[in-house]
Amino acid sequence: MPIKNELLAQEVGEFTEAEQIFKAPKMYGVVIDNQEVLKHMEENLSGKIIPAAINKSGEFKGSSSVFTIKQFNLVFNYIEKLIKKHFDFIEDGDFRPIPLKFNDYDVCKTCEYRSICGFEEDDEKRAKEYIPEEEFWNALMVE
Ligand code: SF4
Repeated sequence: MPIKNELLAQEVGEFTEAEQIFKAPKMYGVVIDNQEVLKHMEENLSGKIIPAAINKSGEFKGSSSVFTIKQFNLVFNYIEKLIKKHFDFIEDGDFRPIPLKFNDYDVCKTCEYRSICGFEEDDEKRAKEYIPEEEFWNALMVE
């Protein structure tokens, strides 16, 4: 679907449509690798709005965040399994907070649930894992 921000359109009503688009907030995340679909979101695929751009040969630039349909399905299937697994944990009465550790950044410091989640300063935190891309897709295929 085309990117449209009603609030922004009201704020910059005197600007041309192109100027409004350049002022639109850029999307984060991943998009499908289908250029025909993406052109409906950002006509010239320059990457100013969507997280993907093409080079002069019409191929996606290396900085683009694109998944194939197969990759999207692998990720969605994995997320579904994770959700089911966590439902099982909750059913078993296991819902300990184990927040991620981002180098020195304390994710709990600004969390709105800090006063009720029960997490203590010295409790265990999980380290963020960095997995090479190929290894990541291979792992999802065997899940
Ligand atoms: S304060 Fe509690 S709920 Fe918030 S991030 Fe930390 S562990 Fe999670």
